[in-house]
Amino acid sequence: MASKYQAPRGTFDVLPANAHARARVERTAAEIFARAGYEPIATPAFEDTELFERGVGRSTDIVRKEMFTFEDKGGRSITLRPEGTAPICRAYLEHGMHKLAQPVKLSYVGPFFRHERPQAGRYRQFHQIGAEAIGTDSPLADAEAIMLLTDLLGELGVPGVELRLGSLGSPQARRAYLEELKAHLRANEGKLSKDVRERIDLNPLRAFDSDDEGTQAVMASAPTIVERLDGEDAEHFAAVRALLETAGIAYRIDPTLVRGLDYYTRTIFSFVCEGLGAQSEVGGGGRYDGLIEQLGGPPTPAVGWAAGIERILLALGEDEEGIGRDAFLAVADEGQRRRALALASELRHAGLAVEVDLAGRSLKGQLKHADRVGARRVLILESEGGAQLRDMESGEQRPVDPARLLEEIGGAG
Ligand code: AMP
Repeated sequence: MASKYQAPRGTFDVLPANAHARARVERTAAEIFARAGYEPIATPAFEDTELFERGVGRSTDIVRKEMFTFEDKGGRSITLRPEGTAPICRAYLEHGMHKLAQPVKLSYVGPFFRHERPQAGRYRQFHQIGAEAIGTDSPLADAEAIMLLTDLLGELGVPGVELRLGSLGSPQARRAYLEELKAHLRANEGKLSKDVRERIDLNPLRAFDSDDEGTQAVMASAPTIVERLDGEDAEHFAAVRALLETAGIAYRIDPTLVRGLDYYTRTIFSFVCEGLGAQSEVGGGGRYDGLIEQLGGPPTPAVGWAAGIERILLALGEDEEGIGRDAFLAVADEGQRRRALALASELRHAGLAVEVDLAGRSLKGQLKHADRVGARRVLILESEGGAQLRDMESGEQRPVDPARLLEEIGGAG
């Protein structure tokens, strides 16, 4: 029966059929983070609105258009978190993590909220996995960040991934470059899309992202920031590139790479998956050397990234099956139900995935259900403690010694 209620626009339910593939992504990330020493952190699903205005930047699309912002009962402006880095930097300062040995390496997973136009791969509540290394400006940290995301996508088997790399330089170099870019845009104002024209002063870099033909033609001859990097920025970028090359990580320099958040400085990167269509980025990030200071802390360089779980699952094209069951415990005799449940519990304690019938089905019904839940074998408990083991693939059935059930069910098959 269809309910009159539906999940809100741009949101979705994670049903059991999809939950396993999702859990595998999270588990793989957790293993990669643990091996590299990126400790888990979790921050609230909402924060003071000002954190994102100051952190993400008032001129960004995220802050201008996409935040779920509301007033709480105390009249404070609250925002459902649209991203994870600003909250983690807030927590870093709030808990005095700048006094710990640096860098502080953190990882997270959780839901994020952006009021975007929903489409495949773009939701209003989505989930990100991310990592941050806070308190170092070493190119080693940039390279390590990229290596971790490379490992994640590689271990999961995401196909057709390309790493795009760029650098935004230091804030000073960026400011000088932005003036040059604005001058270029103004000189060609008539050919630009309305949206880009209106934002020449606010956010000229976004012009590189435009799908408007006229704008693209103007941008083809625009100066790029990678060409304008000065001494230390150029050296830093060269060092990151050399480290990636040593690690055997392929990348393409993308001089027009921009990201939708204001806090990036120097290295930025994006992992794009060709099979994904319009929303082709599975993950990305970069260095944000000024963010913590912007939030009122001491100057603290940092680098990090976030990857979208839904995008990863889409890229994998996974309609993952259930996890399967080692065995299903069926009863041929009603008197055996109690024994079946106790035995199932014992087998589960030994680490096996075992189900019992909870719905009073006939033996035939239990076998059918065992098949439905993907049980490889069915143990049929008979009266007087006897038992039969049935292999669901071959249909073969034989008596087994009740004292040796663990070996029988835990064994190969
Ligand atoms: P960002 O925080 O914008 O740098 O995005 C990092 C990653 O989060 C992207 O590469 C996507 O994989 C994912 N992502 C961002 N916005 C959305 C969204 N609205 N729906 C689904 N995934 C998203």
